[in-house]
Amino acid sequence: MRELIRSWQAGLRHPWSWLGLASAILLLMTLGWGGAWATRVYLNESEARGQNTLGLAVAVLRGHLARFERLPQLLADHEDIKRLVTAPDDGAFVDQINHYLREVNGLLETSDIYVMLPDGNTVAASNFDTETSFVGGNFSYRPYFIDALAGGLGRFFGLGTTSLKRGYYFGAPIHTEAGISGVVVIKIDLDEMESSWRGGDYEVIVTDPEGIIFMTSETDWLFMSVPPLTEDLLARTAKTIRYANAELRDLPTSQQRYQDDHQLLIVEDGAPRKEFLMVSEEMDEAGWTVTVLLDTASARSQAAVTVVLAVLLIGLVALSAAIYLQRRAQLQERLHIERRAHEQLEHRVIERTRELAQVNAQLEAEIGERKATEATLRQTQSDLIQAGKLAALGQMSAALSHEFNQPLAAARNYADNAIVLVERGRIEDARDTMSRIAGLIDRMASISRHLRNFARKPNEKLASVDLELVTRETLEIIGWRIKDGSAELVIDLGPTPLWVKAGPVRLQQVLVNIIANAVDAVSQATDKRIDLVARRSASKVTITIRDRGAGIPAGLGERIFDPFFSTKGVGKGLGLGLSISYNIVKDFGGDLRVENHPDGGAIFIIELKAATPAASEAESMAEPAE
Ligand code: ADP
Repeated sequence: MRELIRSWQAGLRHPWSWLGLASAILLLMTLGWGGAWATRVYLNESEARGQNTLGLAVAVLRGHLARFERLPQLLADHEDIKRLVTAPDDGAFVDQINHYLREVNGLLETSDIYVMLPDGNTVAASNFDTETSFVGGNFSYRPYFIDALAGGLGRFFGLGTTSLKRGYYFGAPIHTEAGISGVVVIKIDLDEMESSWRGGDYEVIVTDPEGIIFMTSETDWLFMSVPPLTEDLLARTAKTIRYANAELRDLPTSQQRYQDDHQLLIVEDGAPRKEFLMVSEEMDEAGWTVTVLLDTASARSQAAVTVVLAVLLIGLVALSAAIYLQRRAQLQERLHIERRAHEQLEHRVIERTRELAQVNAQLEAEIGERKATEATLRQTQSDLIQAGKLAALGQMSAALSHEFNQPLAAARNYADNAIVLVERGRIEDARDTMSRIAGLIDRMASISRHLRNFARKPNEKLASVDLELVTRETLEIIGWRIKDGSAELVIDLGPTPLWVKAGPVRLQQVLVNIIANAVDAVSQATDKRIDLVARRSASKVTITIRDRGAGIPAGLGERIFDPFFSTKGVGKGLGLGLSISYNIVKDFGGDLRVENHPDGGAIFIIELKAATPAASEAESMAEPAE
């Protein structure tokens, strides 16, 4: 049971359940109270309409009666009428009055006018010449006669015993010197009024104080009694012979109230039974009750239609609400999915960002390490270059001492010669000898300057360098080696001066290294020519140095640029020359590689960026960049 309640409560949390429950309650309320309420509303409307009709019918009836109410009195006061009741046996006069009454009856459009004597006999009448003539008839039993004879205004309605026509009777006493000597009666026809009620969607009935229908828009109901006919009632009616010999019947009806507001009359006279809404008004002056009966069928069907419409409307609203709820649920679900996807994406992005940040940090650390390593490497390289140069200087020292000793010894001889020549007075020859000594000193100074430049640690700036000048200075450094090795250096720099982007001293060092290797390579060869060719192509200048030695042994092409790689044996080669040269050329933004010539020997290829000529050669000579 608890489970059942819990599942019911869980079900109620769902908006659909609330919608279904609300719709069901609303439908039940509409079918129950709504039906009663709508019926009441339409019955109210019917009643208002009935009241209007009733008011109109009563007003017309009253007006009709009022028109004729005073006429009998007027006639009763007429001298001729008075004379008639005093001399009723005067045949000629009676005849005259008969004609007069007929004429007046025609003018007034009344049913009948007649004069009665105090004994109730009719002495003259407007219908004297018809089959239903009242002349000679005695109507002393009629209340209008009795009341008029008593001196009042007699009023009565009933079915004419002679004419068998319904009518309203007004009776007035005829006053003569002898007192009340007769009664003048005017009978009004009511058929016309009755016929004006027909054709509407309502019925009008006029009942007498006993409840017998005297006038009606429904002809079948004439002379029928709304309350059941009793012996007493029949006796009272028979006394005045109100309905002559007409047959009185019961109209099978029942009455009930609708919600205490409306009086309903159910008529079961023949099938189908009919239900009417009843509105009534007493007409005391005539002794009538006028009732308007409105068929409730239309009010009830209108109420039913309203209920059906309300049910449909509720259904429509419930359907719209259901569609709305469904759409909203779908939208919410979609939003939920989107939000989840978004969250997942954000989560993934955060994770990826974190990973990236980690990778980034790692990279930064690695870059830092690389930079540090690179700085160390650069430092090492620069140290190596320096070490290489010093090593080369060391190697060169023996040869250099020879290079210096020779001119020194020569200068010594020239000096001795000069002294002798001066002593002999050969001044001219002595001057000549002196100038040779000066030339030798200049040469030694030049070698010394270049060696100083070579040993100096260069700064990093590059400049436009004249290749021809660098080659020339290189030769000054390496010349003795070439000569020593019996080699021959053939230089071909092309027709136009070549300028390259480099440091002149470092470039010189590269050339010294490569040419020195070439000299070593051709030491055993028969052809000791070494070619240095330089050419410009587009933005590059290519310098090739070819020897005719044994070439680079297969498989060593890459290794010869490694530091301390040497095949020259202990004490001869440090294995630093090519490694330093390679790094220097790379520093210039150029390239250094080696190939073997098909005809034998190695070709070292130096590629450098071409440069525009410097402002002046002097500037270049001063080596501002180094
Ligand atoms: P080192 O000259 O002190 O040995 P290098 O770095 O200048 O050091 O040269 C490395 C090696 O490359 C040499 O030992 C030699 O084996 C080889 N090499 C260099 N130049 C030539 C050349 N022109 N012909 C043949 N082998 C060469």
